[in-house]
Amino acid sequence: MTDVHMTIDGMRAALASSREGGARIALVPTMGALHAGHLALVRHARALADVVVVSIFVNPLQFGPNEDLETYPRTLDADVVALDALADHVFAPSVGEMYPDGAATTRVAAGEVGGLYEGASRPGHFDGMLTVVAKLLNIVQPRTAVFGQKDAQQVFLVRRMVRDLNLPVSIEVAPTVREDDGLALSSRNRYLDVPQRHAAAVLSAALRDAAAAASEGASAALQAARMRVKTEEAVKLDYLVIVDPASLLPVEDDHRGPATLLIAARVGTTRLIDNAPLQLG
Ligand code: AMP
Repeated sequence: MTDVHMTIDGMRAALASSREGGARIALVPTMGALHAGHLALVRHARALADVVVVSIFVNPLQFGPNEDLETYPRTLDADVVALDALADHVFAPSVGEMYPDGAATTRVAAGEVGGLYEGASRPGHFDGMLTVVAKLLNIVQPRTAVFGQKDAQQVFLVRRMVRDLNLPVSIEVAPTVREDDGLALSSRNRYLDVPQRHAAAVLSAALRDAAAAASEGASAALQAARMRVKTEEAVKLDYLVIVDPASLLPVEDDHRGPATLLIAARVGTTRLIDNAPLQLG
């Protein structure tokens, strides 16, 4: 049975006795519309903790004015059913519960890396994301929080916030769950019509081509990925960049060793992101 909590006080009260008994608590933050990728994170959390909390909150602070806040899928009842045998608690607060003063809230600043890639396309996105993650960590006070590698820049920034603000939590990362054709599962995939859904598989194909060319260096890997994306007219590249996993800054052309390829593209009005590790040189 999964208990659903709509208030911060209710969530905290429900965890009090487990916490006093020394139970290990894990948090999986989500925006709901759960798919198998989210459920894999919950299973990951289950393996690390005695009590698993899944938060479901579509955070207005991380959406831009022209983004899909209004239309973002909200499927709480189905989400609670999907979590039934997996999570102990669902925390599903209203916007008013999380932001009683509206947007006039204290915010976490994501810094320089927060303005790159996703942050360049979505100004303020990462400040909003880190702010809600900090709030959720303070409300639930988990020992562990689990995030998906699918959102590599998010993971980087959450880890850095935890270090910079000395938050007492360990951040765990779970691998990306994909469809059979390689498309990373995403709550936004449901926006795609059939031809778009087919075309969207080019993102993961581009990552594979880049990985195959990575022994020839960064430019060759980027070129291979770019060529692949061009084969699908419906897919408009937003950014394609190879970064150093330690800094998330773009690598120099002669960089050798481990790197991460980040990709974002639009298919119609739907924005999709993905990433893959590369071994350069
Ligand atoms: P979201 O609901 O999109 O905010 O995602 C909640 C969490 O699920 C984040 O940590 C995501 O990185 C993770 N996630 C989203 N899609 C996937 C996926 N395909 N595989 C694994 N984790 C995912």
